[in-house]
Order: sequence, then structure tokens, then C-alpha cells
Amino acid sequence: MKERNAKVPDTEDYVSTRNACKLCSPLGACFALRGIEGCIPLIHGSQGCSTYIRRYGISHFREPIDIASSNFTESTAIFGGKDNLFTALENVTKSYRPQAIGVTSTCLSETIGEDVQMYIRQYESERRRLDSGKNFPEIFYSSTASYRGTHIDGFHEAIWSAVTKLAGNEPSGRKRARLNLISGFVSSEDIRELHSILTSFDLPYTLMPDYSESLDGGSWEEYQRLPEGGTKISDIRRMKDALGTVYLGSPALPEKDAGLWLQNNFGVPVTHVDLPIGIENCDSFFASLSRITGKSVPEIWAKQRTRLIDAYIDGHKYCNGKRAIIYGEEDFVTAIASFMDEIGITPVIAATGAENKNFRGRIEAALKNTRRKTEIIDNADFSTILEMAEELRPDFAMGSSKGLYLSRNLNIPLIRCGFPIHDRIGGQRILHLGYRGTINLFDMVCNAIMQSKQDKVSSGYTYI
Ligand code: SF4
Repeated sequence: MKERNAKVPDTEDYVSTRNACKLCSPLGACFALRGIEGCIPLIHGSQGCSTYIRRYGISHFREPIDIASSNFTESTAIFGGKDNLFTALENVTKSYRPQAIGVTSTCLSETIGEDVQMYIRQYESERRRLDSGKNFPEIFYSSTASYRGTHIDGFHEAIWSAVTKLAGNEPSGRKRARLNLISGFVSSEDIRELHSILTSFDLPYTLMPDYSESLDGGSWEEYQRLPEGGTKISDIRRMKDALGTVYLGSPALPEKDAGLWLQNNFGVPVTHVDLPIGIENCDSFFASLSRITGKSVPEIWAKQRTRLIDAYIDGHKYCNGKRAIIYGEEDFVTAIASFMDEIGITPVIAATGAENKNFRGRIEAALKNTRRKTEIIDNADFSTILEMAEELRPDFAMGSSKGLYLSRNLNIPLIRCGFPIHDRIGGQRILHLGYRGTINLFDMVCNAIMQSKQDKVSSGYTYI
């Protein structure tokens, strides 16, 4: 047997990624940054990176999305991008009058070894020297090379960069009766649901990030370069004074975990819970809110919980014993695996494009009742998933629009959820979270199974 050298890739066995099951790291960072009030993302790299991210955002959220770029050219790639970054910061400050600028690196700026943190420090000290007394936007930085992370890593890193910069270095005063909730990479509708849940506990809170309005607002008479909405900078500063933080999902790197950072530096305890999809995950989420606030779960959510159980009973006969392929970013797939397990569906494949050593353990923990084998794959691409799936007879695939490739080749339905949805309208309005979101997903699953059965018979059932 051939011995593999861990450091030198074995070129004979190497297979390139074919049809990637992950997205670019600054993309996740940009959407988190658009969830901060008055914040504009600035990509330190070439135009193409920001165009790609805007293109993805617009096709999912159906909103115009401004993302600035320091606009690398060939010479920048050789001589460095400090001047470009300074010019971009100046231009963005003049044109947008933002409260904050979130700078993210790219594959190119990371590869040439740009010390962006140092550039930002130099820029800020220069601005202070030339224009003392003026208000400048806050500038925070996320290191987001796509060759060592995915969109979900970029998302968590951007939250970390904003919280660590804005919460400051001063020790926290006395703890106040307020709560922090750090949401995962979820839909705008999900964030609106989280607002409803938090409001019902009747305690001030910081929900971070919040793109419920900035990436899904109303129509305008005039173009707004920085749409309204987002987590207030002042509320992010207050996060260090909260009674506790609930963090939906789990960053792969603990050192980029804003919840852990608040805990270690300001004594704000953090509770990580999986995305609240499915009864068990929702119960854990509500229990965490209840414990931190010291208040019992409001009656409205208890009623929705019983409605969800009733839905499970009504639809069980359609789901039980079915097989699914689930794929996407780690937090989303872990939560969907737990939901599948609850409704009697085996995820025959649970896949993520991220290289994440925790993924297997998280999926195994989520599958408490599943008896059949689940292929759990990280660092997956869609071609590999398809090759594995052909033997496993899945009934449907569940995840982003990227799974069209799978569903077409396997001739199975695709249940679109997560991010991105860019071959249908309303991706930003899909509700996944909470008891109501679970009911919504459950209806989608049952109806896809029923439609598939209906489509396969010529007589056509009207009752299934
Ligand atoms: S070059 Fe890297 S940072 Fe730019 S769009 Fe591609 S993956 Fe993203």
C-alpha cells in the first residue's frame, strides 16, 4: 500500500473539486456585515470577487447590494495593495458616509501576504492626525481566504471582527438585564422570527447580525446606497454587559467565536445551540432563552409546539422510512439531520463542502433514532455526492439551489432551502427556524414526497 505524506499532496490520487458544495469565504462575511446598521463591506482584492458576491446576494435576496472593492490590478498583485486600500477607505467614507466599514481579505490579498490589520492601524492613525475631532467610521477586519474556509467561516469571522472591535477593551460595568443572540447564516424571514421570539421574552437584546430589513426591505422611491436596518453599533457595544449570549451554530475555530470571546473577556456566559429546526433543537433554544432571562417560555410558543407535534402526526405516514440527501454548510446540515431523524427519514448522505473535523461528530450526535447507515462527508463536492448517491436510492435532496445537479441526475425532487436559492423567488422569505419554521419545512418535505408519488402514476391520485 502506498504511504501518504501528510505534507505533500499525492498528485496521483489527487482529484480536483468538481462542482463545489461550498461558497466563498468573504461572501459569508459580506452578508454578516450587511446585518450591521450603516456598515458597508469592502473587499480587499479584485473587482471580480465583489461582483461574484453581489451577484449571489442579489439573486437570493432580490435586493441591490453594494459591496466596495479595493480593486486590485496586476501591479497591485506585485507591489501590494496598501495604497488601493487607503484610496478605497477614503472613497467609501465620502460616498456612503457609513457608520462602519467591514474590510475582508480575499484569496489574492492573502496569497501575496498583505498585512491588512497593519494597514488599517496606519490609516486610522493618519486620519486621526489629519482630521482630529472628526467622526470616522469604525473599521474592522476579517481575514477570509477562501482556500482555507467557506462562506460560513467568513460569516462567523465577520461577527467576531465587529464584536471584538466594538465591544472595546474596557472592562464591563455591572451586568444589565439584556440578552445577546448571535444568529447563524439564516434567511431574512428567520431573523424576523428571532425578533418575535426575543420580543416575547420582554428583555432588551442584541440580535447580531440583523439583515431582516437591510437585505429584505420594502420598495424605495429613491435608491438607498445603505438601506435601513441592521444591528445598531451601540447595541453591539453593549454585548459585553449582557447576562448571557445564545449562539446559533458553532464556529469551526474557537478563536473566531464572538460568544467565547465575550465570555473570556467580559464574563458573559455563552451557550451554543444548534439552529432551532426540529422539536428538540427548538426546545434547547427556548430553554437557553428561558434560563438567561429567568422567564418561562411564553404561551404562544407552547401552542406552536403542540401544532408542530400535530403536524408530525398528520404527516408521519408520508415521511416514515424515506431517504434523503442533505448538504450545505455545517450548522445547517446538522440541524436538518436532527429534524430528519425526528420525522423518521434517514439522511443517507449528510455532506458539507467544508473541511471540518467536527462535522462527523455533530451529525452522529444529531441522528439519535436513525437505524440505517448515513454517509457523512466533509470536504465534499457535488460530483462525489452524486457518485455515492446512485447506490443509495434517495427519495429527495434537501438544500440550496446548487443541488439541482443532483436532483436532475438522480431524478428526485429537490427541496430548496438554506442559501443560495437563485432559481426560485423568495429564498430570503423561507422560514426555517423555530416551531413555525419547522412546520414550514415539514410541509415542504411531505408535499415534495406526495408530488413525486403523484407524478409517477398516470392515473393521478387526488387523495394521497
Ligand atoms: S478569488 Fe477567492 S475570494 Fe475571490 S471570489 Fe474567488 S473564492 Fe472568493
